[in-house]
Amino acid sequence: MHLVLMGAHPDDETFASGTIAKYVDRGHRATIVHATRGGKGHWEIPTDELRKIRTKEMTKAAEILGADVMFLDFEDANVPYGDMLREAFVDVYRKLKPDIVLTFHPLVKRDDHRMVGAAASDASLKASLPLHVTGMPVHRPEPDIYFFGSPTSGHEPDTYIDITDHMDVKIESFRQHVSQWQKWGKSPDEQGDFMERLIERYTHRFRELGMKAGVGYAEAFIGRSGKKYAHDLLP
Ligand SMILES: [Zn+2]
Repeated sequence: MHLVLMGAHPDDETFASGTIAKYVDRGHRATIVHATRGGKGHWEIPTDELRKIRTKEMTKAAEILGADVMFLDFEDANVPYGDMLREAFVDVYRKLKPDIVLTFHPLVKRDDHRMVGAAASDASLKASLPLHVTGMPVHRPEPDIYFFGSPTSGHEPDTYIDITDHMDVKIESFRQHVSQWQKWGKSPDEQGDFMERLIERYTHRFRELGMKAGVGYAEAFIGRSGKKYAHDLLP
């Protein structure tokens, strides 16, 4: 089976990286598709340089999870509304033939995330229609789609995936996005400690979700199809 995560920026996969690691470990294939290379995500590093840095960080983070990576090369902080993005995702479905898709809820606050969530969700039906011609073969049936869920986002999860055995690999993968985490630190001297504190908070978040699910650590989702799973999406 093929699990595909559709995000906007390198590091968006950190919402669901434990789930990716878990199913890769079971022999499934996983691909992380990001709409941009994150060229606006820093206060000082210029866009061209940042795109290169974040591409490298993402490649390492994906390697640790055992996933492939693909970029659609839209502009960061300017992911378009509408047809162009949706059609890009139609061809992602047709090329990768996912069985399960993980993406943003179409009503989240940040616009790039919202655009990706809506386009990824809308594209799944179009990818299955033979008369919607793009030059790529149709992909049927439509995969199950799970939106990243968090009790604090206003989108209450209904699906919890037990990632207790994959927390270490999740954190190791998270660490690779150095350009994104260190920028929040106050000075270079404080940045090492800052990273550790950030990891503590990150760990705590998935521990809290785990407590809700009655396991050690969990990631949470909202199933689009109404199918709900206690701890598993795939065999
Ligand atoms: Zn993002």
